[in-house]
Amino acid sequence: MRSDVKIKRIGVLTSGGDAPGMNAALRAVIRTAHRKKIEVVGILNGYSGLLEGNTKVLSKRDGSYIINRGGTILYTARSEVFKTPEGVKQGAEMCRKLELDGLIVLGGDGTFRGAYDLANEGIPCVGIPCTIDNDVCCTDKTIGFDTAMNTVVELADKIRDTGESHSRCIIIEVMGRKAGDIALHTAVAIGATCAVVPEYPFDRDELVNKIINSRAGGKKNFLIVVAEGLGKDYGIELAKYIEEKTNIESRFSCFGYTQRGGSPSLSDRVLASTMGCAAVYALLDGCVGDVVVSKGSSIETVEMKYAIQLERLAKGKMTEAEKSELSPGTFYEMSKTLADRMAYKSYLKGVIEKLSL
Ligand code: ATP
Repeated sequence: MRSDVKIKRIGVLTSGGDAPGMNAALRAVIRTAHRKKIEVVGILNGYSGLLEGNTKVLSKRDGSYIINRGGTILYTARSEVFKTPEGVKQGAEMCRKLELDGLIVLGGDGTFRGAYDLANEGIPCVGIPCTIDNDVCCTDKTIGFDTAMNTVVELADKIRDTGESHSRCIIIEVMGRKAGDIALHTAVAIGATCAVVPEYPFDRDELVNKIINSRAGGKKNFLIVVAEGLGKDYGIELAKYIEEKTNIESRFSCFGYTQRGGSPSLSDRVLASTMGCAAVYALLDGCVGDVVVSKGSSIETVEMKYAIQLERLAKGKMTEAEKSELSPGTFYEMSKTLADRMAYKSYLKGVIEKLSL
């Protein structure tokens, strides 16, 4: 669907968890809009700020010196009220009161569900995928993912020094919610013995045997990466189990929120700058409910409805009735996208296994 409303004034907000690169995307939105003579209204604290009308007009200089800053200058929040039909209506009403011709939202799939509801209330919305977890299926990459992984690599390299000096096994817990993307990529990059992720079954005795054999062959330190999606004490229990079975001193370290902060990497700055720019053009092109995505080397848009359906299919939440409403071509394309994502994860898992001796 397309709108022919002339875009003169837009809103922008950041929602869900903060991610490095959000500010770089905001800069791109602010600058592209100003170049196109569009006024930009920053909405503070995500959807809760929208409900309160908590805004500040962003001049073109508000995009200065933020490309390198972590967090979000617009702050972020989670709003339960906005999830209700009344909340969405109130949000749409506020957009009209603020005379916004469109809204750009930066966040993850929850943020896009909210924006889709707003779009259905007549507010043209465009989403920019920002989350360190890379768990937005319609895009190859999300803003913040690369920086978070670089942080993990930096910390893991440091912790390995102690592991090697003390001949220890170190179990590292990394973020990613229910997705193992951060764990699998970083495990390859730090030369880990194994990555344990929610996507695949795991045999801890197989790991124990591998560690025993490697130690017999002279290996001193072991790094095991576990994804947070496996549960709160998973890594602690695994460390205990390994120590008990191998007699190798084992330690657990949770990298936690350090992964969410910090100056964005080069990749995230480039992704954020291109996506921020594309989001403004999407509104100018008449998009009414779309998400900017990265596909291979190009930046494109997909409909928010498609993005949401794809998440539901990925999480096994799509009902048979919903599936039957999709055209065979769309269903095939969605299934292929998800299969390709899984194939890549399996490939990374295979690389970790092949390279650990
Ligand atoms: P992250 O992956 O970093 O957590 P996210 O965007 O998925 O980002 P959520 O907390 O799921 O984070 O969603 C952000 C906000 O979007 C919520 O606080 C809520 O206001 C809105 N939202 C989430 N889900 C819905 C929904 N089903 N309907 C309407 N609004 C929603």
